[in-house]
Amino acid sequence: MYSPAGVKTAASHPIPDVMKAWVLGDPGQLTLQDKPVPVPKKAEVLVRIDAVAICATDLEIIYHGPPASIQGGLPFNKGFTPGHEYMGMVVALGPGVDEYQIGQRVTVEIHAGCGQCKRCRAGMYTSCHNYGLNYGDVDKGHRANGFTTDGGFCEYQVNNINTLVAIPDTMSDEEATLVVTAGTAMYGLTELGGLVAGESVVVTGPGPIGLLGVAVAKALGANPVILTGTRDNRLAIGLALGADYAVNVRQEDAVEAVRRLNGGRGVDYVVECSGAPNAVNEAIRMVNRGGKVCLAAFPHEETPVDVAHIVRNNIYLYGIRGEGKSATHRAEAFMSQKRFDATKIHTHTFALEDLPTAIRYAKDRVEDAIKVVVKARGVPAAQRVAAE
Ligand SMILES: [Zn+2]
Ligand SMILES: [Zn+2]
Repeated sequence: MYSPAGVKTAASHPIPDVMKAWVLGDPGQLTLQDKPVPVPKKAEVLVRIDAVAICATDLEIIYHGPPASIQGGLPFNKGFTPGHEYMGMVVALGPGVDEYQIGQRVTVEIHAGCGQCKRCRAGMYTSCHNYGLNYGDVDKGHRANGFTTDGGFCEYQVNNINTLVAIPDTMSDEEATLVVTAGTAMYGLTELGGLVAGESVVVTGPGPIGLLGVAVAKALGANPVILTGTRDNRLAIGLALGADYAVNVRQEDAVEAVRRLNGGRGVDYVVECSGAPNAVNEAIRMVNRGGKVCLAAFPHEETPVDVAHIVRNNIYLYGIRGEGKSATHRAEAFMSQKRFDATKIHTHTFALEDLPTAIRYAKDRVEDAIKVVVKARGVPAAQRVAAE
């Protein structure tokens, strides 16, 4: 039985030595293998993973590699386990940990920065200067689970205590996997100025981050909140999450629509979540002079940008990486207070053994899938459970 030196365990929560873990081989190739259950070090805990949501970035990593970086390179054929939007229960405590208890339910954020570089010291741990210099020959203590270290498509994972967010029993496993997505949207709004009560916001692109961006902006008091996109079913979810207006850009020019809906003026903030080729040029025309644009999507290609328009109009452009400045804690506070219902974007649940099917649903948007969750227990294999 699992009992590493210096690690606190409890008889009430027995831990095996070996677990099931999905391992990435060649691009797109995942196999279910046995792996040793990892051991928490100082300031870390072992989390029993109960549910994992599939993210578009997981699909990028599994099929193309970046932004994952394992031992400084592509993640293929290195025994790497992807997955990063997970939740579960603390089952073992590394040396010195008293901030969490065994048996406590938690969800996680992805990035544990090194804690010693300039960016980490400023709360920008998703932009850690020692990114990728995690355990191995160089040990800076940095982890980005599912990106530079093993992630969550398995039964147990090690997490730094700074990446844990305690959740109430009233929050379901599925909802808890969405805290980090809402946290990413929250971080975007933090970087744009934080409190947006009464200010106007456009969210472009109704993917998971865009949809929860609408919800978070509304919870922060933004008015109006305008969502743009191409799929009516997703725009409808945006309206249900609090958008004041939804614009289908296939039917109407997005920039003109935004100005019309905001009294003829540009808005204060744009959160760009579409990654569309002309998204930046449209976003800088949606904001008013002195407005702010947050870029939260990873476009595939380089595109020309009208820099003169940005300069002439004193526009601020921000890129954000992930969920910095403890934004997940603030997102969780909204969610546990039921300020919005993030589960509106959860569409399907599968057993962990059926991860390849779950990935197909997420990738091909089978049955209009948005957020697809896999669970290590409680869901019979080869049996899909549609969300309500
Ligand atoms: Zn993600
Ligand atoms: Zn750092």
